[in-house]
Amino acid sequence: FSKQNGRNGFSFYFEELNTDNERLITLDTEIRKAIEHRDFELYYQPKVNIKKNKIIGLEALVRWKNDKLGFVSPAEFIPYAEETGLIIPISEIILEKACEELAVLRMAGYSKLSISINISSIHFQQQNFLESIQKTLEKYNTSAQNFEIEVTERTVMNSEEDTIRKLVRLKQLGFKLSIDDFGTGYSSLSYLVRFPLDYLKIDRSFIHHIVNLDDKQAVVDAIIQMAHRLNMKVIAEGVESIQQINILREMGCDYIQGYYFSKPIPMDELIEFLQLWEYEHQGEIE
Ligand code: C2E
Ligand code: MG
Ligand code: MG
Ligand code: MG
Repeated sequence: FSKQNGRNGFSFYFEELNTDNERLITLDTEIRKAIEHRDFELYYQPKVNIKKNKIIGLEALVRWKNDKLGFVSPAEFIPYAEETGLIIPISEIILEKACEELAVLRMAGYSKLSISINISSIHFQQQNFLESIQKTLEKYNTSAQNFEIEVTERTVMNSEEDTIRKLVRLKQLGFKLSIDDFGTGYSSLSYLVRFPLDYLKIDRSFIHHIVNLDDKQAVVDAIIQMAHRLNMKVIAEGVESIQQINILREMGCDYIQGYYFSKPIPMDELIEFLQLWEYEHQGEIE
């Protein structure tokens, strides 16, 4: 089919469709195998207090390397897992691994650093979301104080009563709450007042042009002031340069995350990173 009609746009279309389809079938098979073998890893990216040059926490980001597909980005497989419901067992594995590695972090002597977990809106909306999370913490003999939960605007947009109830309950349990990718959603700002959020994470897309574009600067500045008025701390995502840090510090931004300090790295590398940081900054770690 393709050889004979190779120059015909129509057959190219089908070829593309076939490749996409094949990838999807492989993805489906492989992701189910990965769940069975708990084949996901967590990488961690430090959050830095730029006023004190102090590391205050880590964000856990899932990684999946597969024999057939190679490294698959969470930006690809998380949406697929959400569509198929496979996000539920994957979320369970992620939380368990975070609990296991929190113990490793504590053993290495870091007694206060918290780990942020990204929670999918599909998982959040499950009836037994709170119970399942509590059960996992109990299983690992750890408590919510050690964790932060990152939700997106998409999560808090839906079914208000249920969302508020769950967020309040998470706070009562001791979790800190972050609104992730702030500025990319379509929801109204009023949720910022109603929901008990501790941190607002400004999306990378705003930070990217902050050095060259005055209007981006104005938006970031306004977000920081607003968040502070609402008693939230601000985290800037995707910070890659010292110029960006200087501007953000000037604006009063509290924390930053980004390649400037570190890409997400596995727990053993992270512990080395923390040790080096302590050495260079004379013990500035929570
Ligand atoms: P996110 O939660 O907003 O995570 C931030 C993303 O930005 C991560 O991509 C991180 O590697 C990347 N990043 C951090 N600093 C920089 C920087 O300085 N420059 C650039 N260009 N990128 C930076 P990643 O790990 O590919 O994750 C993408 C998204 O996938 C996450 O966005 C989150 O929505 C989702 N995700 C990742 N891990 C999990 C997880 O464990 N559970 C769930 N439900 N979703 C996850
Ligand atoms: Mg996040
Ligand atoms: Mg984000
Ligand atoms: Mg993002």
